[in-house]
Amino acid sequence: MIYADNAATTKMSEAAINTMLNVMKESYGNPSSLYGIGQHAKEILEEARVKIASVIGADPGEITFTSGGSEADNQAIVSAAELGRKKGKMHIISTAIEHHAVLHTLEKLKKEGFDITLLDVHENGIVRPEEVEAAIRDDTCLVTIMYANNEIGTIQPIREIGAICRSRNVLFHTDAVQAIAHIPVNVKDDNIDMLSSSAHKYHGPKGVGFLYAKKGIRLTNIIEGGAQERGKRAGTENVPGIAAMAEALQEADTHMAENAAHMAAMRDKLIAGLREIPHAALNGDAEHRLPGNVNFCFEGIEGESLLLLLDDKGIQASSGSACTSGSLDPSHVLLAIGRVHDVAHGSLRLSIGEEITEEEVDYIIKSVKDVVGYLRSFSPVWRDLCAGKTPFIL
Ligand SMILES: *Cc1c(COP(=O)(O)O)cnc(C)c1O
Repeated sequence: MIYADNAATTKMSEAAINTMLNVMKESYGNPSSLYGIGQHAKEILEEARVKIASVIGADPGEITFTSGGSEADNQAIVSAAELGRKKGKMHIISTAIEHHAVLHTLEKLKKEGFDITLLDVHENGIVRPEEVEAAIRDDTCLVTIMYANNEIGTIQPIREIGAICRSRNVLFHTDAVQAIAHIPVNVKDDNIDMLSSSAHKYHGPKGVGFLYAKKGIRLTNIIEGGAQERGKRAGTENVPGIAAMAEALQEADTHMAENAAHMAAMRDKLIAGLREIPHAALNGDAEHRLPGNVNFCFEGIEGESLLLLLDDKGIQASSGSACTSGSLDPSHVLLAIGRVHDVAHGSLRLSIGEEITEEEVDYIIKSVKDVVGYLRSFSPVWRDLCAGKTPFIL
């Protein structure tokens, strides 16, 4: 089996599993309790906060634990919106290719009277900093732009965008769920005010993440209750999950350079191999791209059939994002980079892991070539394309 859907979720690392088990067995106290095992759990929590903060260049007090990337995105955006509302600033800038955790939160704010500008991306999926700058108005309270895209892997010019926001005195949030632990991210160097991260995208457990918010930014509670997380996020902390997240992040950070180099080499081999398929195109930018992401459109086929046949060959991949597969609408990201509906339906995302081998890459290339050829052999759409009845797009 070749698991190539690491952008959807990753397998937990041994170190993260062991950390989690140890904490569950030995340190089950409530961090809010004053007796020994409670205080021990509190120490584990604070050690995790220190580890995580140091990896991204933050202070421990700037890290709030959440239930994952979606909650962190929600809390960051709602907090900035509340701060804006108080000052009569109700304009937010984002992009058309954000994760639904961002897009749906923005839609909700729109209903509350916020004005939302969604910037277009260019064919390669990259946002232009000058367009961010031009969109900023006197009443802009937030710019939220993802660090790296979960479908097409494009990495945005975050540092430049952050610098623009800072010079214009506008809060800047980035959904860094796909970037953290995979490429270097430093909130100070990158001029980031708020950042979202999720453990299960870097070999940590599901259901745990964190929100970085620069000192001085007042967060709004999404979950009301007790005074955990300095009153910013109620609920008894997920101590085993948080400890395992910190472990996974530190492990990934330690090996980031070598892992990224290996994955990028395997990614480029995959891209070169799949480019040999006629009427196929790479989605996203070839250069500013996550080391593990490959995303292609193949004309004349359905992505879903491709996935099922690849699964039969022992390869797990995805078409669009996990959240959109199962629906008939093609990915909003592929549409945003200009792929027409029919072409967008024939998409394949392979998000490879650190342990992928060259032999596995060869096997994936051969399998995709075979399956695309097989599906095209009885596709009416493909027959019409070949007969010249409809023009090829790719
Ligand atoms: C996975 C993902 C999320 C959601 O994170 P969860 O922890 O699953 O809630 C948000 N944004 C991006 C870019 C993602 O890839």
